[in-house]
Amino acid sequence: MTLSSSPTLIFLGTGAAWRTPEWGCGCVNCAHLRAIGEQRLRTALWLDGPLKVLIDCGPDITDQLMANHLDRPDVVLITHEHGDHYLGLDDLEVFRRREPAKGFVPIPVYATETAWRTIEARFGYLLGKLLEKRLVQPGLALDGLPRDLRVIPFKTDHGPVAGGSVGFVFEYPGNDGPRRLIYTSDFKDVVQDPREFGPPDLLVASCHWLNEPVTNPAFHMSLQRLLPFIRAWEVRERVYLVHLSAGDPHPGEGGGAILKKRDPLDPLRDGDGRLLAIPRDQEEWQRAAEKVFRLAGLDVPVTVAHDGLTTRVG
Ligand SMILES: [Zn+2]
Ligand SMILES: [Zn+2]
Repeated sequence: MTLSSSPTLIFLGTGAAWRTPEWGCGCVNCAHLRAIGEQRLRTALWLDGPLKVLIDCGPDITDQLMANHLDRPDVVLITHEHGDHYLGLDDLEVFRRREPAKGFVPIPVYATETAWRTIEARFGYLLGKLLEKRLVQPGLALDGLPRDLRVIPFKTDHGPVAGGSVGFVFEYPGNDGPRRLIYTSDFKDVVQDPREFGPPDLLVASCHWLNEPVTNPAFHMSLQRLLPFIRAWEVRERVYLVHLSAGDPHPGEGGGAILKKRDPLDPLRDGDGRLLAIPRDQEEWQRAAEKVFRLAGLDVPVTVAHDGLTTRVG
């Protein structure tokens, strides 16, 4: 199997664990999104080339495949054992049910041993029938993929309740040498530097908040906290942000007034020392991200991804 054309990246979902807006939530952010009819489904990606790679498979997966007119993936990569990243695996059963009895070849699913402990406890009955269990080891390229698509997992820190978390480096041939895409998935830090696998052209990074909160019990990444990573990894072409939540407090929502809102530690300010406005929707997030990059002196362009965004990565 070879990869003859450059892949396309589709952002199936770009939201946090409970989608945004969150059902029944009356916070400024969720109310605004509901009023303008904007939403983000659970974060998942699709790399579409001759090999169709689904990266994470949360509870929105059927809607996401339908919205993007996608059929059965060739392989699935699971970044970690949180529900918003794997609970949709059972939905892939539709691809088996339509085949003749015993005619179905199980879909290879890659995850770390630690992540598999959780996934298998929930979905063990799917193994061998719908799904084929494949193990990933951080730092080692995945087995069983086409020669010209290398996928290397790297260990991330997403806290003790996601001990199996990894990000992935995707490497494929380009006109001027290998091209690399880093996908961090949910993380607060890296245990293993993905830069060691070569300079990335593209970075898709989790960005849960604008400002780093005083406490970060979910071990998530804020845009503020992400800046030194982007600088250190020397991303050459573009940064995409995903997994956006509604967790930055607006006036009146801080101080524990709403559990999901995390007070900022040392919030981002503009050149005049004024606090940056908390973005609520796609347009405001895009403006805020560009401003933050400019203030931080980062030259690389940034795109706040939205559900359905599709881009060539070759
Ligand atoms: Zn998540
Ligand atoms: Zn997570």
